[in-house]
Amino acid sequence: MAKKITENRNKDILIFLTIICLLLSFTINNSIYYQKFKEVKKEQENLEVELTLKKNNIKKINDENNLLTKENNFLTEGNTNIDNIKNTYYQKLKVLEDQVASGKSNYKIAYLTFDDGPYYLTYDFLNTLDKYDILATFFTIGLDKEVCYDNQTKTCSNIYQDIASKGHTMANHTYSHAIFYGLYNSPDTFIDNVIKQEELIKEKTGLTTNIVRFPGGSSTAKENKDAIISRLRERGYGWVDWTAQDGDGGDIKDANKAWNIFTNSIDEDIEVILFHDYNRVTLSLLPDIIKYLEEKNYVLLPLFKESKMVHK
Ligand SMILES: [Zn+2]
Repeated sequence: MAKKITENRNKDILIFLTIICLLLSFTINNSIYYQKFKEVKKEQENLEVELTLKKNNIKKINDENNLLTKENNFLTEGNTNIDNIKNTYYQKLKVLEDQVASGKSNYKIAYLTFDDGPYYLTYDFLNTLDKYDILATFFTIGLDKEVCYDNQTKTCSNIYQDIASKGHTMANHTYSHAIFYGLYNSPDTFIDNVIKQEELIKEKTGLTTNIVRFPGGSSTAKENKDAIISRLRERGYGWVDWTAQDGDGGDIKDANKAWNIFTNSIDEDIEVILFHDYNRVTLSLLPDIIKYLEEKNYVLLPLFKESKMVHK
């Protein structure tokens, strides 16, 4: 009987111990799982924060993108408006030019043109033209414009935008102007230079040029002239030489001499006048040149492709 009781007690103790072990194991496991659960939860929270940040970033990028699209549309619209205004203006100039050419106007026309820039001095030319409220034409080149001709520390490459934004006609004088270094070797070498300058001007100002002046004048192209003109026409270009000048292409130093050359060259109802915006003598004479022409009843205008002075 006593043995039976002892066996039962041992059995109870065993059951009790087993239950304790199970409970302990459950508690320990539960604690580990809870710990893991907390870690996963924390990780999830971190991921949620990260997701929110990324969503905010995407929203910010989308907002910026929308803003840029709006600005871009505004600029495109603005450029179209400017193009429309310019076209209307040129149509009116064409009417005036036809009247002058047929002797039906009391006015005459002078196109001031500046070649070989931009240079550091171009800013001063622009200021003088602003002062007299005159629009002109700039036949620009591209080579070496990262450093200005007479100011080694300043870049000239920003002046293209200044010329364009003031409303002057931006025209193409080839990229290299290398008359003695291959420009006129063939129609291809010439046209490549025109395209290179066209691309530079487009990059700097957004404008597409449509008037070319041959460096040295069209006669410099000699036997290649006709082929070049035909290739220019294919690209939508007209070209123009000049009818008057002050001789500043040879870097003239004497103002009296330049003045005499200039006044002696003015004798037609429509003049295309050649200057260079690197020349200080021309810069110093410019106010007198403007006054002289206006007193002689010339209206000073920017060149445009439809002008009769531009060969198409
Ligand atoms: Zn030139």
